[in-house]
Amino acid sequence: VDESPFSDFLGFELLLEEQDRELLSRVRAWMTREVEPVINDYWTRAEFPHELLGGMAELGIAGLAYDGPGCPGRGALVDGLVAMELARVDPSMGTFMGVHGGLAMGSIQLGGSDEQRERWLPAMARMELIGAFGLTEPETGSAISQGLATTATRDGDEWVLNGDKKWIGNATFADLIVVWARDTDDGQVKGFVVEKGTDGVELVKQEDKIALRVVQNAEIHLRDARVPEANRLQRAESFRTTADVLRVTRMGVAWQAAGCARGAFEHALRYTKQREQFGRPIAGFQMVQDLLVKMLANVTASTAMNARASQLQDAGQLRDEHASLCKAHATVRMREAVGWAREVLGGNGILLEHHVGRFVADAEAIYSYEGTREINTLIVGRAITGESAFV
Ligand code: FAD
Repeated sequence: VDESPFSDFLGFELLLEEQDRELLSRVRAWMTREVEPVINDYWTRAEFPHELLGGMAELGIAGLAYDGPGCPGRGALVDGLVAMELARVDPSMGTFMGVHGGLAMGSIQLGGSDEQRERWLPAMARMELIGAFGLTEPETGSAISQGLATTATRDGDEWVLNGDKKWIGNATFADLIVVWARDTDDGQVKGFVVEKGTDGVELVKQEDKIALRVVQNAEIHLRDARVPEANRLQRAESFRTTADVLRVTRMGVAWQAAGCARGAFEHALRYTKQREQFGRPIAGFQMVQDLLVKMLANVTASTAMNARASQLQDAGQLRDEHASLCKAHATVRMREAVGWAREVLGGNGILLEHHVGRFVADAEAIYSYEGTREINTLIVGRAITGESAFV
């Protein structure tokens, strides 16, 4: 599949069936042709390339792993490799799809009734409806399972939502937002599909981000926003369902991190072969090769861990601590790799023109979202010691 013999160093793509390898090739070609030439402009302006959504929809990759109605149902491994492919060209577009096809579709797939899946998933898979996922709040991020303060109060056939959310990706233009709120009756966290145009929902775009500038994050203010009982995810009875969604999507972020590192590595490798100093390509210097090989090792190690965990996911054996280990590991390795990529580009490493600067900035957001390194470390620590360090 890969035209470069170096970046899929141990041939992970060969683990895929032929039809999935072809899909990966199509994604790669589309991202390289349609996204790479224009994305720096969008990044500078902090705008989302809505005109690219039609082409992305034709790739058929939204909800790729899920087997719900209208979903491709191709499994976690190809879903992960596709997530890597998106982030390899642009981490923002990878994040957009992680939110829509992973978090939003995943919430409906895992928490929705059969009827709710039929109602929303086919249109979301076709990307006619775009989704967002509202969990984090201004005062509570890491401790959201305990501190979630947005409330949902039952009133006849409706629920009344009150509270504030922060950092909600795609929310400025999403057709539906899965909002997680605490039932004032039983105290449990439940999921509600809040549709575009609902009264009492105010969306405020977050400005001046220095990472993932193409992703449109918003604060959401819910003031007596009413949603019908039919929009409450019927199988999401507690935060356990939210955590089930996050287990799967954390794997997606681990793949995005491997993709971000891989994209930076590939730009750096190309650059070092072209850039000459002291009369020869800088790729010929031992210390430059040391950095290139360390980047390749990071990318390859993350890909290997992720691939195995995705195979476990496909076998129904993925545990929270597996996904957390992959996310924590891949994001640490990504942060190192993008730093080394920037280093071998010298001053040009901070220019958007050479792309690596964008990867360096975007890596900072990937490092922190869907569980920081500390939180994912504590999830693994709890599993291996039997001691919870959270409380
Ligand atoms: P805090 O929880 O305030 O943490 C601050 C620091 O304290 C971190 O280093 C953390 O690791 C550390 N810390 C906290 N508790 C402990 C502990 N017990 N032990 C050790 N260290 C600890 N959320 C959504 O719901 N939907 C989205 O679409 C979404 N998209 C996002 C996109 C971006 C670009 C970003 C930056 C965030 C997004 N988020 C989203 C929110 C994201 O998931 C949170 O930022 C993340 O969970 C961390 O929460 P926080 O930022 O509030 O940090």
